[in-house]
Amino acid sequence: MKKAIVVGSGISGCTCARALAENDYEVTVIEKLNHVGGNVYDELIDDIYVHMYGPHIFHTNDENVYKFLSKFTEWFPYEHKVLANIYGNYVPVPFNLTSLEKLYMKNKVEKIKKILIDEYGFGNKVPVMQLKQHKDKDIQEFGNFVLNKIFIHYTQKQWGRKIEELDPNVMQRVPVYISYEDKYFTDKFQCQPKLGFTQLINNMLNHKNIKILKNVDANDVLELKDGKIFYKNQEFNGKVIFTGAVDEFCNYKFGELPYRSLDFKFKKTKKSQLQPCAVVNYTVNKKYTRISEFKKFTTYKAPEKGSIYIKEYPLEFKRDKGLIRYYPIVNEKSTDIFNKYKKYLSNYLNFYVLGRLGDYKYINMDIAVKNALDLANDIIEGDISKWTY
Ligand code: UDP
Repeated sequence: MKKAIVVGSGISGCTCARALAENDYEVTVIEKLNHVGGNVYDELIDDIYVHMYGPHIFHTNDENVYKFLSKFTEWFPYEHKVLANIYGNYVPVPFNLTSLEKLYMKNKVEKIKKILIDEYGFGNKVPVMQLKQHKDKDIQEFGNFVLNKIFIHYTQKQWGRKIEELDPNVMQRVPVYISYEDKYFTDKFQCQPKLGFTQLINNMLNHKNIKILKNVDANDVLELKDGKIFYKNQEFNGKVIFTGAVDEFCNYKFGELPYRSLDFKFKKTKKSQLQPCAVVNYTVNKKYTRISEFKKFTTYKAPEKGSIYIKEYPLEFKRDKGLIRYYPIVNEKSTDIFNKYKKYLSNYLNFYVLGRLGDYKYINMDIAVKNALDLANDIIEGDISKWTY
């Protein structure tokens, strides 16, 4: 039987493991923690599914991704909504026409609305940086207003960097809506796994060809030497799909890749609810970026009494401090470093990197699944040209 080792049991690793297992690969999944699931791992606490590594909301336009995951979970329909708390005033995020009417100078609201609708068309979305750079002074002023109220402070907390120091794609994830749309995502499929993400992951891994090794650090069992892969000191001729941090795996030989980490403060309240929607962003003050109230987006039939929530305090990832890498900080410098690792790893033809860490990309769950399915498919078909550097 053909063999594969998947390092990491997050959504990328598990998707790839499952797709290979279904195609007669004998797959060993190596997980360094004592649980599977990576950052989508959740636990049922007081009848509420609590995302132990921060809020995860599934959304996609990709029917294949939706269909693939639907084999492992039932869903409940869920449309995510976010409010910004601006000194106690709640406005929708993404910033929309309701936010405009609630926050902007009353005498300018109608004028701005008209220009936005005439220029971009009702129902469209515009990146905030485009508004800031607009030729019209009023739109520029409005763009700066949105930046100040929604983006600058939050981004500084989240990334420890100024907007200009980040990949423009980061800001583009949250455009301005030229409409009254108040859903955070506008994808075709928006839903949450009925019995949580951990159950989805367990169902994915539940296959006769998949073996899971928990509490095993890949750095202790996998070695790359002279173009060959060694697993537990034996040459391994199967495929290795690596979803961990490549800088750590390669002993930082080309330098450290920067990541943001998070410190979570989990809290309980006896109240039936804490806040008006699932996630509230603190965009102008506070040290935390957002508060997520789990019963509002993780639990199909949430208990009436009590609620559990988390506050997120971002910080820079540092080695040997027990921190977790959550977000790759993609910029020119880090891309240069990552490309060196990728080039070096491409000497090992059966070794593939995948996922937010392995591929050093700030991707959502659906893209993680899509990339994993694509890689598995190309491995199965024997067409790996696009995965080499
Ligand atoms: N962002 C912001 N204010 C907000 C929401 C988002 O400044 O109220 C910026 C911030 O830089 C954030 C990025 O947009 O990191 C992407 O936001 P998203 O909600 O997609 O972040 P995630 O849920 O992946 O942490």
